[in-house]
Amino acid sequence: MEFLLGGGSSDSIVSMQLLDGKKAREHYIPLLQKRIKDISFTPQLAIIQVSDRSDSNIYIKNKKNLALNLGIKIIHIKLDEKILENEVLDLIQKYNNDKTIQGIIVQLPLPLHLNSENIINSISPEKDIDGLTLNTKFMPATARGIKELFDFYNIKLNKKKITIIGRSKLVGKPIAQMCKKEGAIVAVCHSKTENITEKTRDANILIVAIGKPKFIDEKYVKSDQIVIDVGITRDIEEGLVGDVDFENVKNIVRMITPVPGGVGQMTVLALFENLIDACYNLKI
Ligand code: NAP
Repeated sequence: MEFLLGGGSSDSIVSMQLLDGKKAREHYIPLLQKRIKDISFTPQLAIIQVSDRSDSNIYIKNKKNLALNLGIKIIHIKLDEKILENEVLDLIQKYNNDKTIQGIIVQLPLPLHLNSENIINSISPEKDIDGLTLNTKFMPATARGIKELFDFYNIKLNKKKITIIGRSKLVGKPIAQMCKKEGAIVAVCHSKTENITEKTRDANILIVAIGKPKFIDEKYVKSDQIVIDVGITRDIEEGLVGDVDFENVKNIVRMITPVPGGVGQMTVLALFENLIDACYNLKI
């Protein structure tokens, strides 16, 4: 994709590459389908949802759509908002013991009266395809999805300076772990970090996961950078919006993910890759 900068003279044409999550996902789907075909049973995922949050409904719908496409069975249990913690734990125990189910996910966030940590940690590590339990066997889906997006575009992380904004247990931290594992020099920023622009502009790759729509503008970036926007916020007028002010930043950086159509696409795919790994781990 090409954009004209500085009034549009031919000297000022800058090429920016869109890191297209849909395109990357289309590449990976046949590979996953082939792996599914080689399994002697139909993979099955249990999704436990408590309450009726509209964002959770959308995330679950996206998972169901891809599952249908891949031939994976989903059991979706929607529980009342007032359910007791013991009842959720009992249900997880039932699915932990059910040999026809290879993956269990609890859609987060949970209502405040439930202890998310207790609930998540009750999932068997062999079935925790979200990669959230203490002894999990899986890389959390967002981190795996971003890694596969980098692989698809042949972006190597070894020795690259990567700044990640966001340090949550579910998103920022696993992404930082994945980048370190790939040999990157990682700096993590959060709400208390001072002089964030210095740290973001110093990076070869900037990954943003804060949940603040259009927070990252032209002050935070420089040319030749790769920008990965993990944030997803639903805006009544604009629909899904990322943490990066895409319209302003796209003219400066070398590569950037869109929202929608970027990291979110890869996260759902990675979740099912983890599920199929769980099936293979059963040594079929
Ligand atoms: P979260 O638990 O609220 O964590 C947000 C993180 O951002 C925290 O570490 C916080 O710092 C930091 N932060 C907040 N405001 C900041 C600021 N002004 N400057 C610097 N750091 C700031 O959120 P999350 O669960 O990690 O999710 C982050 C975003 O990713 C959300 O938009 C979510 O919807 C999205 N998401 C996308 C996908 C996907 O597949 N694309 C998957 C999961 C989540 P402190 O630690 O200091 O509070």
